[in-house]
Amino acid sequence: MTDPLHIIEVAIPLYLDRTFHYLVPESLRAQALTGRRALVPFGNRKLTGYILGIASESAVSNLKEIIEVLDNEPLWTAKELDFFRWTSSYYQHPLGEVVRTALPAGINIQTRKGTSGEQEDFTGGKAPRKEKFYMPDTVAATLRQPGAKALEILAVIRESGDISAADLRKRFGACTPQLKRLTELGLSRVEEREVYRDPFKDHITTRDEPRLLHTHQKAALDAISACLDGDLFTPFLLYGVTGSGKTEVYLQAISHALELGRNALVLVPEIALTPQLTGRFQARFGGGIAILHSGLSDGERYDEWRRIRRGLARIVIGARSAIFAPLEKIGIIIVDEEHEASFKQSDGLRYNARDLSLVRGQMERAAVVLGSATPLVTSIHAAAEGRLTLLELPERVAGRPMPLVELVAMNGSKETLSAALSAQLTETYLQKRQAIVFLNRRGFATFLVCTDCGKPLTCPNCSVTLTYHRQRGQSLCHYCDYAVPAPGTCPECSGAALSELGAGTEKLEHDLKELLPTARVLRMDSDTTSGKGSHERLLSRMNDGSADILVGTQMIAKGHDFPEVTLVGVVNAEASLGMPDFRAAERTFQLLSQVIGRAGRGENPGRVVVQAYDTEHYAIKAATEHDAAGFYQQELEFRREAGYPPFAFLAAFAISGLTEQAVSDQADITARLLAQLKSELKVRVEILGPAPSPIYRLRNRFRRQILLKGSNRSDLHRVLSFWRQRSAVPATVRISVDIDPVDMM
Ligand code: ADP
Ligand code: ZN
Repeated sequence: MTDPLHIIEVAIPLYLDRTFHYLVPESLRAQALTGRRALVPFGNRKLTGYILGIASESAVSNLKEIIEVLDNEPLWTAKELDFFRWTSSYYQHPLGEVVRTALPAGINIQTRKGTSGEQEDFTGGKAPRKEKFYMPDTVAATLRQPGAKALEILAVIRESGDISAADLRKRFGACTPQLKRLTELGLSRVEEREVYRDPFKDHITTRDEPRLLHTHQKAALDAISACLDGDLFTPFLLYGVTGSGKTEVYLQAISHALELGRNALVLVPEIALTPQLTGRFQARFGGGIAILHSGLSDGERYDEWRRIRRGLARIVIGARSAIFAPLEKIGIIIVDEEHEASFKQSDGLRYNARDLSLVRGQMERAAVVLGSATPLVTSIHAAAEGRLTLLELPERVAGRPMPLVELVAMNGSKETLSAALSAQLTETYLQKRQAIVFLNRRGFATFLVCTDCGKPLTCPNCSVTLTYHRQRGQSLCHYCDYAVPAPGTCPECSGAALSELGAGTEKLEHDLKELLPTARVLRMDSDTTSGKGSHERLLSRMNDGSADILVGTQMIAKGHDFPEVTLVGVVNAEASLGMPDFRAAERTFQLLSQVIGRAGRGENPGRVVVQAYDTEHYAIKAATEHDAAGFYQQELEFRREAGYPPFAFLAAFAISGLTEQAVSDQADITARLLAQLKSELKVRVEILGPAPSPIYRLRNRFRRQILLKGSNRSDLHRVLSFWRQRSAVPATVRISVDIDPVDMM
């Protein structure tokens, strides 16, 4: 018999439902401890496994030995392992895969250590760019009279040879006009250089003091503080209209947690991880903040991860994956914009960071604050049932009014800009104020249609139409990036007359320039923000007043605080209503309310013009009338009748493959097995489908789906775990199971 103390349990990052036992050779016994990675033989491969603990016994007699231990320090705590286990069981995803998802990718690119000490040698990915100014040789002669500040700046540029824009701003304060002037005069030149990135280095932040809270903020803070003082898990829904001061409540609640010696985890949608938000935290707390976002290279992310693991950061701000941050003694978890779909991971481990925050919060006995101006329908319901403690901020800070909204019926008109919106835009421009115009579609035309045969241009790989991008001169598939020169000819009948249908942001930008030729119009969508830092540059041009109108997709709807924006226009308010998704109305309401909330956040009151074809739809009416309560009531009635969350729990099976027949056969087999399990287990679940997915073909794969609905979670989970044991999926077909699906397409 083997000494059981030398058998360890190891999780392997593969799609296997079980963990494995290994023997530890004498030489590795001091190192092979829980929380570290080990190189293990697996079949005829060597894999990285995660040591979960000592196994007291093993049913297998001829166990293999581990080859090497890969870490000197544990990578996760016992508490974190509990969290990983919970996640693995809830999402029915192998534990090894959960651990792999939780650890930073950069951990695998560190060089293998020898026996001694630290492993500092890792390769970072591609570093971001930063503007630099320097003085070319050729220009000395043309010195004109650019003003005293500009001359001083010029002297510094000359002296230093080259200097970053950030360093110049540190020295001279705002100096964009001077730098622009010097560059125009040919006295300095702008260049982008690759630099190693420190998320905060470029921000000279002035220390920001806590604000005196208004009554509602104070009540919210007191409730959260009481929970922190009592060391009790309490989940809160902080429901505050746009501009009501939610962020100030977060900041002061975090202060309180820090004073108590506890740490803070802040989850935000990826798009909110701009210098605007992080700057506010930096200004309030100084250092000790770690930031995790997708702009970091694997190496940089691993660096941040290690700072957190070693207790050098007490506040962690990040997108959804930050829910797995190695932060200990968590006192408070904040999920800002809790309604955002981006908290859900759409492949691999399909977790929802918003939901997991409640689980981790409970394990840490933390306060969990879910904040939003437009909470999820399910959160409103949970608050009504007392499962979330409701904290309301019903008014804007400083008594600022909610904007005045005008709803314009488009009655079949094909114009992008109605007379009412055009008039408001002109007036705002003449008053030298800023406007935002929102249209949730990018490109120039949603699609091109042949006027000869009537067929639209479609993607050969996906069952969607191609979007016409005029600037690029291409028709483009937004799913697989397939592109053809455009406008081009009809692939069906070679007809040359293609007409443009459905306007996108590019067309809107074009029409705005026609309406106001001298206005400075910016466009923000995924076409104009693909470059590193381009998003920030667009935002800063709005903030420093060097733009008049910002056009954009949902990217502009969220989180940004532009005090000078007094007009918001919404073109095609129902763009998102047509989606074959039970959340279409909820999403439309949230998006419209968020966009409307961008107006009038500063001194001057805001106005909004919403253009819609379907002005009677309850989501549109409620958003334009600031009638959130009315919307939630009506939406909950719909959900109850149709049997959707919060009145049912869902799991979505996605069956896909390259051959249509194989996919359809496997979908039928899956549905039959589910039906059989339903009757064997006598559970109350409903099986909907199989049916073709709304996007039937995607990147060449045919797709079918089955929706499993249960009135309680345990029934649903029993069926799923039995299905996993019994199903046999051929190699030609892929089946994924998504618990609590968000994307129904
Ligand atoms: P929200 O997060 O709800 O959209 P913010 O927290 O961004 O709102 O607050 C909107 C603006 O009001 C910000 O500029 C913020 O600094 C300011 N603010 C928040 N609370 C107060 C307060 N109690 N007194 C004065 N200004 C405040
Ligand atoms: Zn495609």
